[in-house]
Amino acid sequence: MPCTFCEIIRGEREAYIVYSDEEVIAFLDKYPVTPGHTLVVPREHYETIMEVPTPLLSRIMEAVKILSRAMFEGLGASGVRVVQNNGRGAMQVIPHIHFHVIPFYDGVEPRRPRPLLTREEAEYVLGRLRSVL
Ligand code: ZN
Repeated sequence: MPCTFCEIIRGEREAYIVYSDEEVIAFLDKYPVTPGHTLVVPREHYETIMEVPTPLLSRIMEAVKILSRAMFEGLGASGVRVVQNNGRGAMQVIPHIHFHVIPFYDGVEPRRPRPLLTREEAEYVLGRLRSVL
């Protein structure tokens, strides 16, 4: 079965890339809970946290840390939530390990249901994050 995230990593599927290095890539979630909701994934395909080699997991967490800081500094977030789901029971939808990094803002409620990311929101968020990355 084709993997949506591997397609993004290979450049076969469009995404708004926030951060990229040799091992890790981060892009905006297509259905953001809040503006800036980002997914951090390893370039190599592993399904869950149990399969990822620990040194790579550590590299992923470095990116999570960098992005969290960027959300406070660049987006003016008052909080950042990091979420990682493993397996069907935890409602992992894409079987390629990913960390959700979700900024929260004073006075802004998380959106439910999650709306489709708009180009306008994506460009705003990318501009703000890139100014501090
Ligand atoms: Zn994959």
